[in-house]
Amino acid sequence: MRADPAFAAPGRFFKGNVHTHSTRSDGARGPAEVCATYREAGYDFLALTDHFQAKFGFPIVDTRPWRTEGFTTILGAEVHAPATALGETWHILAVGLPLDFAPTPEAESGPQLAQRCLDAGAFVALPHPGWYALSTTDAATIPGAHAVEIYNHTSATRIDRGDGAYLIDQLLAEGRRVNLLATDDAHFHSDDAFGGWLMVKAGANEPGALLAALKAGHFYSTQGPMIEAIHWGEDSVEVHCSPASTVAVLGRGSRSMPAIAPGQTRVVLPLAPRMLEGGFGRIVVVDEAGKKAWSNAYWF
Ligand SMILES: [Zn+2]
Ligand SMILES: [Zn+2]
Repeated sequence: MRADPAFAAPGRFFKGNVHTHSTRSDGARGPAEVCATYREAGYDFLALTDHFQAKFGFPIVDTRPWRTEGFTTILGAEVHAPATALGETWHILAVGLPLDFAPTPEAESGPQLAQRCLDAGAFVALPHPGWYALSTTDAATIPGAHAVEIYNHTSATRIDRGDGAYLIDQLLAEGRRVNLLATDDAHFHSDDAFGGWLMVKAGANEPGALLAALKAGHFYSTQGPMIEAIHWGEDSVEVHCSPASTVAVLGRGSRSMPAIAPGQTRVVLPLAPRMLEGGFGRIVVVDEAGKKAWSNAYWF
């Protein structure tokens, strides 16, 4: 048995959200209040990611003043440029940007802007693909993206388009090693915070260590359930988790193997040859309230 890389990594898990807005773009609360809101809710870290657009003065909000003992921040933004296959403005999440990241020139495309974020050292993710029907063709134009949102709480609760699984599973089937990210994308105009977050395994609750762990895929995503361990064997996978009614391994195309029973905290799922031939497996845990946790994909 081999521990899943996210769990084998040294350190401990830190709870954080890497997609949030404030009054520096279209959010309802000021940056200090947003940071305090997450800190008081027990989060270890936050990336405030206001919309990096001319109408908001291209904000990279300096959240360093609101770091405290036990709570840190990573600087970032949600950046925008033309245009997806459907003619929509790109939304690109960039976590770990420098304060002096240059404004987006009018001629810059989404993929060019994403590359500039990557070159600046950011963890780059494609947020809320379901919200604007982002396609695999679009995703292929940003080959360096580290992750895609599996769950965006604001898109889910406002318009029932919070799910990113369809795009992620297409990309994984193409062999693309993209990770799964849950965020809440809170704007605080309504009760939209705390619906999805990350558990990042890192050596310290410090921006550099967290950023490295994000880029390495040393995290899982959740709406509440906890994944405590995943061990991959030759022909089975073992999952330890908070009480779950479904624990499943999902692979290429239709490949899947669930264990369905109330209150499961340790599950061993067989990995059939067909699953292994598919190239990857990812774990989903669902509790009796329907809340989910998602691992990143493991490559056999
Ligand atoms: Zn967005
Ligand atoms: Zn957003």
